[in-house]
Amino acid sequence: MDTPLPARPRLPIRARLATTIGGAAATVSKLAGRGDGSVIGGIIGLRLEPDLLSLLAAGRQVILVTGTNGKTTTTRLITAALSATGQKIASNVYGANMEAGLTSALSRELDAPLAVLETDEKYIPAMIKATQPKVVVLLNLSRDQMDRAAEIWMLARRWREALAASDCLVVANADDPLVAWAASAARSVSWVAAGQRWREDSWCCPHCGAHLVRHGDDWGCRECGNQRPPVRWTLSSGKVIDPGGRVQSLDLALPGRANASNAVVALAVAEAFGVDADGALVQMRGVTSVAGRYTQVQRRGTEIRLLLAKNPAGWLEALDVMVPAPVPVLLAVNAQSPDGRDTSWLWDVDYRRLRGRPVLVGGERRMDLAVRLEADDVAFQLVDGIDHAIDLARSPRLEVLANYTAFQQYRAVLGRTE
Ligand SMILES: [Zn+2]
Repeated sequence: MDTPLPARPRLPIRARLATTIGGAAATVSKLAGRGDGSVIGGIIGLRLEPDLLSLLAAGRQVILVTGTNGKTTTTRLITAALSATGQKIASNVYGANMEAGLTSALSRELDAPLAVLETDEKYIPAMIKATQPKVVVLLNLSRDQMDRAAEIWMLARRWREALAASDCLVVANADDPLVAWAASAARSVSWVAAGQRWREDSWCCPHCGAHLVRHGDDWGCRECGNQRPPVRWTLSSGKVIDPGGRVQSLDLALPGRANASNAVVALAVAEAFGVDADGALVQMRGVTSVAGRYTQVQRRGTEIRLLLAKNPAGWLEALDVMVPAPVPVLLAVNAQSPDGRDTSWLWDVDYRRLRGRPVLVGGERRMDLAVRLEADDVAFQLVDGIDHAIDLARSPRLEVLANYTAFQQYRAVLGRTE
């Protein structure tokens, strides 16, 4: 276990003022019912002191967590694992993951020596500069919303440059060639075989552009020799293989392969803080839901489970996690700006596994999804809202998969639950 940190340096007076005023604004916003106030508090604090994030991060051990999918859950699992250190931990638990959200998370826990911060993938270079992290976690990189493949490559290049200039430890998924390429520029990397469910954005070598050759999880480029690095931690059939070759069951409360790989990543981070796998797993098994995701809610006699996924890779993972037929499924899609206005990503998901089970389709863009399901020969019924879905499902259980704002709308109806 690491020795306790020395007392954190006192903040300069303007930063203290900015923190206080930002915190007050957050409280007012929260009382007014506008979410948890973390963004508004951070924005106001940064207006008053543009270096507030750097000042708040100074003297702490910061962990930044990024990737297209799994950031929020992995952040939660790392926080749980590190609670075994007995130290106080700051974290942006509600997923506000840009500069203001990070600033607010740190200002709420001024005396926490550790900080686990989910970070938007586009902001990672700037956040590395501002927070001088001890560890950066790179989960995966694929298209989100309206991104195109070229933008994903650009992003990987920017990660790579930022990591080359930092002396942090990188915990990276070796199974994602784009992530591996970005991470390989770092001074030290703990490689994790966390799997890659979504491969459509990584058929080409990020280094030279040639076609990648794949055998199972292994990948390599014949042109430039770029290849999957040797891994330290492996997820294999729901079990983790640690650096010493010991095999252990994860036995998480959170469902699915995606969460199992998030947990193995968290174990690699815990190792860097002197927490062994046994100690970390005990804590991570206590995580049952993350910001309302995977929550089970009772409504009018139906047990409803909520799954959130925002992009094709996330939808594929979520379809894997679902309770099998005959339990009915409600799929809901919106296209408000947080979701991305373009719904063409729906065509990147294979829905054929839903054939033969009751499927309900909701959300503001349900017609877009309906057209897509017809193309895959999946029978469905359209619904207006969650209660209509419960009426039509007539089942003791209902699985709900929704994208971002559709998920928030259902959660509001069902009551905010953790
Ligand atoms: Zn190559």
